[in-house]
This record gives sequence, C-alpha cells and structure tokens, in this order.
Amino acid sequence: MKFYSTSDPTHQVSAREAVRLGLAPDGGLYMPVQISPLPSSFWSSIRARSYEELALEMMHPFFGEGLSRESLYGIIQKVCQIPIRLVRLGDVHLVELFHGPTHAFKDVGARFMAELLRAYQEYEDMELHILVATSGDTGGAVAAAFHGQEGIRVSILYPLGGVSAVQEKQLTTWGDNIHALRINGSFDDCQRLVKTAFSDPVVTNHTRLSSANSINIGRWLPQSIYYSEAYRQLSTESQTTTIAVPCGNAGNISAGMVAEQLGLPVDRWIVCSNANDVLPTYLSTGHYQPKRSIRTLANAMDVGDPSNFVRMKILGGSTWNHVKERMEGHVVHDEEIIHSIQDTYQQYQYLLDPHTATGWAGMHHFEGSRNRSSRLVMSTAHPSKFEEIMVRALGFSTEPAPHLKRVQQLPGSWISMEPTYPQFREYLMG
Ligand SMILES: *Cc1c(COP(=O)(O)O)cnc(C)c1O
Repeated sequence: MKFYSTSDPTHQVSAREAVRLGLAPDGGLYMPVQISPLPSSFWSSIRARSYEELALEMMHPFFGEGLSRESLYGIIQKVCQIPIRLVRLGDVHLVELFHGPTHAFKDVGARFMAELLRAYQEYEDMELHILVATSGDTGGAVAAAFHGQEGIRVSILYPLGGVSAVQEKQLTTWGDNIHALRINGSFDDCQRLVKTAFSDPVVTNHTRLSSANSINIGRWLPQSIYYSEAYRQLSTESQTTTIAVPCGNAGNISAGMVAEQLGLPVDRWIVCSNANDVLPTYLSTGHYQPKRSIRTLANAMDVGDPSNFVRMKILGGSTWNHVKERMEGHVVHDEEIIHSIQDTYQQYQYLLDPHTATGWAGMHHFEGSRNRSSRLVMSTAHPSKFEEIMVRALGFSTEPAPHLKRVQQLPGSWISMEPTYPQFREYLMG
C-alpha cells in the first residue's frame, strides 16, 4: 500500500517511508491511497475471532508490504497485550483503552510504532533519533514504548511547570535511551524547537531524525483496531454503533473512521471537545477556524488547531455536507466535566477521568434514536492520572493505577534547557 500526501496526492511513498518521515516534506499528512472494506464475512464472524486475528486483518493491507505476515503478527501480539475492556453503565458502554504502561490510550499506537520501527530498523546501520514535544501523555507513552530499544534514541521536550507531577515522573524516570529535556518555556516553545530541528539541514544531515506524534501513520492507523475489538466484545444483540470520542488532535476519532471504512458498522460519530471548540463549530457551521488553545480540565485535549482535522474531513467524505451527515459535535465545559464525574460516581460508583468525562457528557447530548445502535464512549485515560481534579470533583483521592504507583517511587533526571534553538542544536549535534 502506498501513502499519499494530503497537500499533493501525486506525492506517494511506501508505509516504511511514511513512518520514517512522519509528516510529508510538503507539509501534508500521509493517507492510504485506498481503504477497501474487509469482506462482510469478516465482520459477521468477528466474534469467532481473537483480537490478534482481527487486528492482523485490519493492519495487513496498510503495513503488509515489505514486512512478512509473521513479523506483522509479532508486532500485533505485543500491541494486543494491552487489554481493551468494556464496562457497561446504563445504556452506555465505556471502552477502557487505558490499561497500558502509562494508563492512556496513546500506549496502543506508541507500542505499535515502536515495534514497527524495531522491525524496520534491522536494515539500518545508523541510530534513529526520535524527538517528541509533549504537554503530558504523548511523551510518557512514547518513552514507555521505546525504552531499551536498540538503535533508537528518544528525546522528550516538555515545558517546565506545564505537566502534572505524575506525568513528569512518567517522562523522567526511564534512563538508558530515553532523555528528558525540561524546557524553561511553554509547550509551543517545545514544539517550535522540534520543528526548527527538522528544517535544519545541518542537523538532519548529521542524524536521522523522526517524530512520534499522531501525525505518524505508525502511531495513528493502529488505533483503529480497538474500535473493532470493542465491537467484537459487544453482545450480538445490536448490529450498529454510535461512538463518542473525546477529541484533541482528532487522531483517535479519525483512526476509528478508518475502521468504519474497513466495514465496522457505525451509525454516528459524536465528536466531544472541551472548551476548545473548533471541531464542533466546524460541524455545526461548516467553517474551520483555528484558534489559540485555552487551558481546561481535560488538558490533553487543549488543542486549537487539531492536526488530524484533514484526515477526519477526508474520511468523513471531504465536504462539510457529507461530513455532517456522519458526525455531530458537542462542547463540554469544565463545569460539565466536573458534574459528569460526580454524577457517574453517585449513580454507578465508577470514576471517569476528565477526558472520558467529556465523551460521557457528549454522548448524553446526543438525541438520536436509541434502538438498535449500541452506544460506545471511548475512555482515554485512567482517573488517577488526574488526581487533583478527581479530589476537586469528589472530595477524596483515588487509588493510583498499578504502573503509576511504581513510577512515583523512582527518582527522575532531566536536562534543563532555555527555549532557544542554538542550545538545542548543540545537544542534537553532540
Ligand atoms: C491525547 C488524548 C486525547 C485526545 O486524543 P486525539 O487523538 O488527540 O484526539 C484524549 N484523551 C486523552 C487522555 C489523551 O491523552
């Protein structure tokens, strides 16, 4: 399968090249040239298959070239070790995606990408240096996935004072090939340093640089597998689904739309945003207007110009008229996030993290028909990652998730840096 750039459809590369480059050189995003539905027998017999089998069938068309079926299956087995659990609350199923090493859904895509690069890297003689700017969850998931991997070095740039205490531990306690850079600036400064490095020929001729955000097809596409896994786990009574997704850069939801194009039956997509409302505004007005991001309780979704918007639009049918047939958006403000956490706890003794709470609230704004369609809410993080907010909403602290307990005991180490490019460049060249 070839991948084209959304800025120039005639520019096409292999999966391997697209993973290596992340963003296309012309600034576009890579998209598969074709997404063909899997045979209907695949979907009708899905409950007789394993998670690994269905993931292999879904990913093989995209990554099967230049990789044996066995190698791909090996990658998928590792990814499927992260359990996907359905929890039913009333007429909604939460799809818990947070049982990986950093307790956020990003572990799934990050692990796939790490294993894929491990397979590709066998043919390389030069170290690959992955740069990640993070405002929280991405850095940790990437660090966990790449830790100890030969031939790959990871540098994570994060803003001083801009991540939670737990998140900082998840960035700084790895050692070995994982390096944390604490930038005396904002997340935007971190992102600018990374972008400048990618466009600096002196640096790119000296080292092989790559990125690991949700732009990268190696992280983005595999996220489609858990949508089908959730469907597989549903009891047989319903044939279709309505799916609510807490959105930031829209990587998760657009991966779900890939699963839909492969044949997953979806009635409607519910785009759930926090006060950063560009996606719901687009869906209701047809105007896409990037904004500066504002801080909310669901901080991993504080995005003012979602990088995967183009993918979401193409997969939704390219024009607003088509897209709005398939999807609707809801804005969930901080107060409603708090209320959702409180209500769900009172009614079901279940703890929603602030991101999942936007999905929950968004689903409850949906007014479509209730029959036939199963309602799924993508649950993106474990509540104990957001301890302060949980205490604020509920008045008590929550039991830390298993991997968080351990990491909290470990000493962190990092390199402090000013947000000026010369210092970062020296680091990269050293
Ligand atoms: C990254 C993240 C999101 C947003 O996902 P996108 O793919 O950027 O839309 C939602 N919730 C959590 C917990 C996250 O870490």
